[in-house]
Amino acid sequence: MNLHEYQGKEILNSFDVRIQRGIVAHTAEEAVVAAKKLTEDTGTGWHVIKAQVHAGGRGKGGGVKLAKNLDEVKTIASQIIGMDLITPQTSAAGKRVHQVLICEDVYYPGESETSEFYVSVLLNRATGRNMVMYSTEGGMDIETVAEETPHLIFTEEIDPATGLLPFQARKIAFNLGLSGLAFKEMTKFVTALYTAYVQSDSSMFEINPVLKTSDNLIMAVDAKVTIDDNALFRRKKYAEMRDLREENAIEVEAGALGLNYVDLDGNVGCMVNGAGLAMATMDLIKMSGGEPANFLDVGGTADAERVEAGFRIILKDPNVKAILVNIFGGIVRCDRVAEGIIAAFKNMGDDMNVPLIVRLQGTNADIAKKMIDDSGLPVQSATAFKEAADKVEAVLA
Ligand code: GDP
Ligand code: MN
Repeated sequence: MNLHEYQGKEILNSFDVRIQRGIVAHTAEEAVVAAKKLTEDTGTGWHVIKAQVHAGGRGKGGGVKLAKNLDEVKTIASQIIGMDLITPQTSAAGKRVHQVLICEDVYYPGESETSEFYVSVLLNRATGRNMVMYSTEGGMDIETVAEETPHLIFTEEIDPATGLLPFQARKIAFNLGLSGLAFKEMTKFVTALYTAYVQSDSSMFEINPVLKTSDNLIMAVDAKVTIDDNALFRRKKYAEMRDLREENAIEVEAGALGLNYVDLDGNVGCMVNGAGLAMATMDLIKMSGGEPANFLDVGGTADAERVEAGFRIILKDPNVKAILVNIFGGIVRCDRVAEGIIAAFKNMGDDMNVPLIVRLQGTNADIAKKMIDDSGLPVQSATAFKEAADKVEAVLA
């Protein structure tokens, strides 16, 4: 589950990770009140107005702006709230901004230059260990840094038994070129950050930029936090932070029905049981010239009700031009699945408005095929995997 910047910062702050302070506002008036409060609390004269949407690159899209007085706070906040923010990470339509974070300006001039770093904590799947990934090139797309100057990205792997050790924190601060107070601050920062990552059951922290202020404090200016979905049952406080407006509406609806659905860009809807078979089905659709419109794992039961729910979810995507059902009848017999498909089809009537190709394999596959063929419904059956994909291709042609 992804969080907004302000929520991520809230979590960091609760683990004593220094953050750029801010207050959320939903209207321009609230923004002015927030700015005044921040000036009282922090002494800041300038404020940064930051769009809160689940997408990076907000600065580039005009979603992060500096205000030098309260009038500017009001004007900028009213511009950003309600806008459809387009960034390199959103669709062409952008993302509607419902709220902004009013922040203290932390790039104030002082005894030394400010510098921006990149620090993330994530799982290295190859080793099964968490690692801190960091770079001197903060404030930039890390993908660009990885492509153009990969030698400027460092990683530090962490032994789960010991956690991040003091020598590792010092190594990170050293590699970032810090000394004196900033060095100490950075070791404190990454140590607290790693503790926060583990204890919040997060699967990713990306802090870009981490700022060294002109008075050598180290703080998180941005926060991209992803909490492991599998831990939400025991992290109720975080689960409540979910903002469904930021998520794909069809995926949210499918999730509520217990269907494992991921929306994709193609035109062939797929209904499959088992994640492995679903992946293989998507590959095969692609190999025969189509593009999968979704990933859908209906799981162990494929009765009429569930099949119908699956069809209806798939058909919410206007790009779907055909549906391929590919189900392996192991525990659930194919004839039961065929019964479910036929009943769902009949129940849906005109709502089922694209060609349907069904491949059932496993226990009683032959009986199931005969049931489909004899049903009188415009459903094509297939026995072999490739045959099914070819039939999909034929209806699309
Ligand atoms: P992103 O573009 O979505 O990654 O949003 P960020 O939170 O990273 O903000 C984008 C950029 O805004 C940062 O890289 C900073 O350069 C700038 N920025 C953020 N906070 C401040 C601030 O307090 N003062 C100034 N002058 N710039 C800031
Ligand atoms: Mn950022």
